Amino acid sequence: MPEVVIIGGGLSGLVAAITARQAGLSCVVIEKGRSLGGDGNYVEGVMGVDSRLQQQAGITIDRTRLLQDELNYSHYEASAPHLKQLIDHSGETIDWLADQGVKFASVGPQGKSWPTIHAFAGGGHAAVATLVAKARQLGVEFCMSTSTQKLLQTAGHLSGVEVMNEVTGQTTKIATDNVILATGGYVDNPELVKKQTPLSDRLMSVSDGKSTGDGMQLAWAAGAMHDSMGALQFGGGAIFDPMLPPFMHMTSEIGVAATQEAILWVNQVGDRFVNEDVNDNMCHAGNALLGQARTFAIFDAEAVKHLSTVGLYKAVGNSPFSPDTLSKLPDELASDLAAHRKYLAKADSLETLAEQLHLPNLVDSVAHYNQQVAAGVDADFGKASAYLTPVKDGPFYAVTLGVGMACAIGGLRIDTHNAVLNAHGYPLPGLYAIGNDAAGMLVGDTYAVTLPGSTAGFAAFSGRNAVAAIVQNK
Ligand SMILES: Cc1cc2nc3c(=O)[nH]c(=O)nc-3n(C[C@H](O)[C@H](O)[C@H](O)COP(=O)(O)OP(=O)(O)OC[C@H]3O[C@@H](n4cnc5c(N)ncnc54)[C@H](O)[C@@H]3O)c2cc1C
Repeated sequence: MPEVVIIGGGLSGLVAAITARQAGLSCVVIEKGRSLGGDGNYVEGVMGVDSRLQQQAGITIDRTRLLQDELNYSHYEASAPHLKQLIDHSGETIDWLADQGVKFASVGPQGKSWPTIHAFAGGGHAAVATLVAKARQLGVEFCMSTSTQKLLQTAGHLSGVEVMNEVTGQTTKIATDNVILATGGYVDNPELVKKQTPLSDRLMSVSDGKSTGDGMQLAWAAGAMHDSMGALQFGGGAIFDPMLPPFMHMTSEIGVAATQEAILWVNQVGDRFVNEDVNDNMCHAGNALLGQARTFAIFDAEAVKHLSTVGLYKAVGNSPFSPDTLSKLPDELASDLAAHRKYLAKADSLETLAEQLHLPNLVDSVAHYNQQVAAGVDADFGKASAYLTPVKDGPFYAVTLGVGMACAIGGLRIDTHNAVLNAHGYPLPGLYAIGNDAAGMLVGDTYAVTLPGSTAGFAAFSGRNAVAAIVQNK
């Protein structure tokens, strides 16, 4: 009988599996997909404080100020002990990842944030490949295309799991004393997401489709507390295309221009509604966009020329990697217009564009906006003057915007050993949750992109932390 069964072979599950084997525990990973790594494959970077890399780069962070800042950001809905524990151990977690062979390209801030994001060299795919190789080398057993159906309990104690082969439908029981839930949260479960926001039709998951909230539902069925469902991690504005899935636009330069360059945004009637440089915090941008019924980015021929040949108006804040220019922008516009993609509109005059999109106030809004651009002051919403760029020279373009969601966290309450708590706040013996399944404890209603890389940082930290508790209880 394995000493630990880990449900989910994503970022947190892989870290837990390696740590378990290094501690001499026998370990099986149950993964419902055909591949490993989960959304860890898309992660750009991991949060850390006082890592070796930061020390080399001369980056110092006042941990107490950081903790207070994040607690204030969450309106003290985040748990101070959990946040402090993550901050205190995040640097050594980065060092541990590096010791397993994971390579980092850089460390620094993301938009207006603390300088905590350690960007993976080669992206999440490279990091996952390294961790998978390490896990296999250590003898971790992976059961692929196998989902967990039920947690088994005997006299109130966890005694195993019932799993199902997704191909054959065959079910099997695996006895164990320790189960770690690492199923990646619930971003791909529309029913659960809908509970978080009334406008969920404009929310698009950019996950791999497998984060369906299984961990929390398994735990709830076993008596776990239904804790506040935490935050959705908005990826800021995103192209809202009824014809293609969101991931098809992930590398789109039209998307960068429309969402990252702080150009004019208007709503369903053509009114401006926010300082567009709010995109420095992609969750704030997501909240602002979701507050409207429809949203559009509006720009002109001069903006296309500037962005594609001269340079960006604004460094891309949502990525550690910012391009110099958007050289593919003219070609992308031409090809998507030729393909009649519904998210994109073009017209020689603003009047025609307004008519096409049914935006009665657009022409007046643009005239008013251009006056503020000429004066160099956004008296309406206070956007930085550097990003006040006019909308004057046709042809004019409109990109329909929705909001991308990278992950949805929360649903369970854990103690500082990552043990899952029951409705009375006591640990369910043998049951642990890590990664997105447990990360709701770290945030309030708005995900903390002020501490960039924190989901991945917590995934790695919590994987190690849960195993340390199992070793201690042995
Ligand atoms: C596009 C994108 C970019 C992101 N970038 C970042 C970033 O730069 N920094 C950051 O901090 N975070 C980022 N995230 C958030 C990311 O979700 C987490 O950082 C990380 O992947 C969480 O790890 P996890 O182990 O909880 O979930 P995952 O890595 O998603 O792993 C969950 C695994 O559980 C499996 N699973 C689910 N249900 C079951 C079941 N019933 N039985 C068995 N297996 C199951 C899934 O198939 C999956 O393999 C990003 C997310 C996305 C989608």
